[in-house]
Amino acid sequence: MSHMNRRSFIKLLGAVSGIGLAGAPFITSANEMLPKKGRRVVVIGGGYGGSIVAKYIRIGDPSIEVVMIERDRKYVSCPFSNSVIGGFRDIKDNTITYDKLAANNKIKVVYDEVTAVDTTAKKVVVSGGVISYDRLVLSPGIDFRFDEIEGYDPVETPKVIPHAWKAGEQTLLLRKQLVDLPKGGTVVMSIPVAPFRCPPGPYERISTMAWHLKHHNPTAKIIVLDGNPDIVSKGKLFRAAWAKHYEGMIDYRAGNKVTKVDTNKRSVDTGVEEIKGDLVNLVPPQKAGLIAHKAGVVGEDKKWCPVNQITFESTIAKDVHIIGDACMAGPMPKSGYSANSQAKVCATNIVQLMNGKELIDPSHTNVCYSYVTEKEAVSVAAMFKVAEGKTIIVPNSGGVSPDLSELEALYAKSWIKNILHEMST
Ligand SMILES: Cc1cc2nc3c(=O)[nH]c(=O)nc-3n(C[C@H](O)[C@H](O)[C@H](O)COP(=O)(O)OP(=O)(O)OC[C@H]3O[C@@H](n4cnc5c(N)ncnc54)[C@H](O)[C@@H]3O)c2cc1C
Repeated sequence: MSHMNRRSFIKLLGAVSGIGLAGAPFITSANEMLPKKGRRVVVIGGGYGGSIVAKYIRIGDPSIEVVMIERDRKYVSCPFSNSVIGGFRDIKDNTITYDKLAANNKIKVVYDEVTAVDTTAKKVVVSGGVISYDRLVLSPGIDFRFDEIEGYDPVETPKVIPHAWKAGEQTLLLRKQLVDLPKGGTVVMSIPVAPFRCPPGPYERISTMAWHLKHHNPTAKIIVLDGNPDIVSKGKLFRAAWAKHYEGMIDYRAGNKVTKVDTNKRSVDTGVEEIKGDLVNLVPPQKAGLIAHKAGVVGEDKKWCPVNQITFESTIAKDVHIIGDACMAGPMPKSGYSANSQAKVCATNIVQLMNGKELIDPSHTNVCYSYVTEKEAVSVAAMFKVAEGKTIIVPNSGGVSPDLSELEALYAKSWIKNILHEMST
């Protein structure tokens, strides 16, 4: 931990200690929320990565105590949120709680926000005090690089121009705006330069929004401003879907990076052109969740966390592991499936490390399904392994589905059912 980080940690500790704050509870290092008796792993985040790493450490070695800290009591899944926006899935089916996960696996779940991490003292700060760890796992997902879009107000802009790149209220707001779109209105969607959470996600969203419009507002248009030189994932399949189902509705413009937004005018600017929409869905560029920055485990790019590819231990801070969207894992996409796979590898190797045993040599799988209508989906799959310290794609593994199909949509439905079940039990 840098001196800066250590100083800011002590300052934050002062704040939660109530030092100089009349009436605030007094917390010292003796005010541990959960005094540690044996070996303990603390997990920050209860999403696709966090819930699974917590569970599999307990399965791997029940003598290790696991404390999972999550700010929200309910987790809303981003996977399948585009179906909610399209109007063919209820958000309730994307929502899980942690009661069964905690009870079945004897995981201590703390509902709180982690505001600081001291990687030297091995403590994290929550509103109720401090919690000590032997090893820490961060799976905080993403936060946004708002500062790269001129005029973007992190609080006010998403209330008018939703990103819906974290699921929940934002998903419902975008759905409402789509339903309320004036007849023949214009939707503008902007896609950041990769890497971002879920490479095929924006193109699936274009498809599910188009599906809604085709059935309820067929003269409406979708203008897509993609910061990338082409569709980032499954390009051929998405183009085939748009030609088959949404001819004339989608105006896809590659190499159009949005750099400016005007919330009042509902317009975005590419530096060449200002484009106004009746509905604007601006997905900002991304970085590792803020707590990773506060913990000082983000790399030189100031975006993502470098990790050992076998243990997911930070290359910056000892005994801190980072998984999911926040970490750098070579060609693995930032997906829920990847986070799940990384969580299992990380859990296994944490158990090995804590018991002085040999590390396992990992391999991973990823499949990303995307709906293109309410019934048809497409998919992309790959296997990954570690070679000479780097994660690589296993040669000739995976590929894309041959065509749009109802069978892929069935596979997708069973995938989401199984993975959410695994996360919540
Ligand atoms: C529209 C869309 C569609 C997608 N579709 C798919 C798909 O079909 N398949 C797929 O595999 N992936 C998909 N994804 C990607 C997937 O959502 C992410 O890759 C996945 O959620 C990453 O898991 P994670 O654990 O890194 O982060 P998350 O699942 O976001 O979990 C992070 C958790 O940490 C908590 N947290 C963060 N900071 C703190 C803190 N300081 N204190 C306490 N708690 C904290 C958050 O509340 C959150 O619950 C999609 C994403 C989007 C946006």
